[in-house]
Amino acid sequence: MKIFDTHTHLNDEAFAGKTQQFIDNAKELDVVEMAIIGSNEEFNIEAIRLAQNYQSLHALVGWHPEFAKEYNEEQLVNQIKLPEVVGIGEIGLDYHWEEDPAPEIQKGVLIQQMDIAKQYNMPVSIHCRDAFDDMYQILKDHDLSKSGIIMHSFNGDLNWLNKFLDLGLWISYSGVVSFKNAPEVHESAKNTPLDRLLVETDAPYLTPEPYRGHANQPAYTRYVVDAIAKYKDISPEDIAEHTFNNAHQVYNL
Ligand SMILES: [Zn+2]
Repeated sequence: MKIFDTHTHLNDEAFAGKTQQFIDNAKELDVVEMAIIGSNEEFNIEAIRLAQNYQSLHALVGWHPEFAKEYNEEQLVNQIKLPEVVGIGEIGLDYHWEEDPAPEIQKGVLIQQMDIAKQYNMPVSIHCRDAFDDMYQILKDHDLSKSGIIMHSFNGDLNWLNKFLDLGLWISYSGVVSFKNAPEVHESAKNTPLDRLLVETDAPYLTPEPYRGHANQPAYTRYVVDAIAKYKDISPEDIAEHTFNNAHQVYNL
């Protein structure tokens, strides 16, 4: 089978100097293609460098809400014209850390990047933490469904799932879906249509079972596939095939 990790950070210093090793580890568990996600100037540049050097890697570039104040539109527009860059991300809202930067700043930078995505017909990878209400409103007001919107590491319940599906989003699950204490995410995975489903690791974060508590790596997308297969009661091969094809569709590969 072939698995696509649609959101991972091989550009993180946790993997520095060991890119080939982690690509090889991934291949052993059938994870054969990955999207490397940027979040600020430094990580965007490294995502592009990796995608230029390894055929199975693609890059997304963008300014994560945590780095909203450093947003550089000119750089973003130049970078998304590179052939290795397949989308804009991760961008979004994060109200978890005492709302710093302020929500108004986060929203402004998110919307500016969404406008660029629309203009250049690029998909976006959305980071949303403790901010579903504001995110829903922004996505509703700025229809990007034609370019493609991925809700990365979705951890919402059935109610939020249905609202985001109605807006035409792609729903991507990380290791959280394998956690025993996330019943609402299991329920959402079970009810996400196969033609809207994506899988990811968000490595080095969010390590899935059975390795929770250890360092994460792209190879473990395999365990995300297994967890979703269990909740949907279909084979891992089916989940892998659909999510692989969906990833190619949303990233225009
Ligand atoms: Zn991420």
